[in-house]
Amino acid sequence: MAAKIYYEDDANPEALRGQKIAVIGYGSQGHAQAQNLNDSGLDVVVGLREGDPDVGAARDAGLEVATVEEAARSADIIMMLIPDDQQAKVYRDSIRPGLKSGNALFFAHGFNIHFDQITPPDDVDVIMVAPKAPGVMVRKTYVEGNGVPCLLAIEQDYTGKAHERGLAYARGLGATRAGVLETTFAEETETDLFGEQAVLCGGASELIKAGFDTLVEAGYQPEIAYFECLHELKLIVDLIHYHGISGMRARVSDTAEYGDLTRGKRVISPAVRAEMRAMLEEIQTGKFATEWVLENQANRASFKALERLEAAHPLEELGERLRSMMKWLD
Ligand code: NAD
Ligand code: MG
Repeated sequence: MAAKIYYEDDANPEALRGQKIAVIGYGSQGHAQAQNLNDSGLDVVVGLREGDPDVGAARDAGLEVATVEEAARSADIIMMLIPDDQQAKVYRDSIRPGLKSGNALFFAHGFNIHFDQITPPDDVDVIMVAPKAPGVMVRKTYVEGNGVPCLLAIEQDYTGKAHERGLAYARGLGATRAGVLETTFAEETETDLFGEQAVLCGGASELIKAGFDTLVEAGYQPEIAYFECLHELKLIVDLIHYHGISGMRARVSDTAEYGDLTRGKRVISPAVRAEMRAMLEEIQTGKFATEWVLENQANRASFKALERLEAAHPLEELGERLRSMMKWLD
């Protein structure tokens, strides 16, 4: 089924008229969203802990700043833009007590709602507006008169206006200039986790390391292996990003293309695809979510140990040295 996509004319800015928007957090997404909404003429207050280092930056941008409690209590719309692992506690302590009937709780990622870390009362709207880009791009494209694509999902529609409110919020971000795709909290959360685990972060990192290790173990120079397996990846990904996979194949040599066509499926073998399905199932059944929530409660013991072990891979020190010689990378 093709996705429904909304543009500028589909949104009704009136849906947020007279409503105060509390943007909780002023990090990657928070700084971008608060400023875009404010520049779009909406009524914004930024919610931050007392003494938070980001208070100064929000004030310097001309934004109203209050504590998380005050901002949330004074607002009709509350957007959660603090780290996902902090949201359940901050919601319980500082947002839930001031929630009023008809308020809308907004999220930029579905984890806490979909995996039941936050259970809002029945008499509020629960909406997701998730930009498909980091905060710097959300701000930069807006300032240039464009926007980044966003996902929109409605988990709970108490007021009957949740969809209109979500679309008006997305318009305030500039997202309806680029396209707003309708989804669900389940689909956004599960595909986001799967993408970062199997392809973008987990898959790509291990593919690079496996290629590098294979060459180095066979006696080739590590510097050559670094350029071949890590540095050049960006050039190929850029070709795919702009021209698709066939377009990339049309732009590399025929030798490279023949090697790709005949050998690629041996790297991503049927066993790897079966493992991907097993990982997806761990996401769908909540096994991964439970593990990550418990890991945070354990003060991230495994997470920190794994980070240390991974940082010790020879590719890391070598890469730092080589990149420092390539001044043009800055
Ligand atoms: P971030 O890590 O940049 O947010 C940090 C902000 O939260 C800071 O202002 C910090 O002071 C504040 N903060 C941290 N802990 C807090 C606490 N306990 N109480 C109050 N304030 C606290 O977060 P982010 O990357 O902008 O992510 C926010 C949300 O947006 C998440 O749900 C994330 O999944 C989603 N999202 C992020 C991106 C991205 O590009 N980073 C893209 C799409 C969606
Ligand atoms: Mg993601």
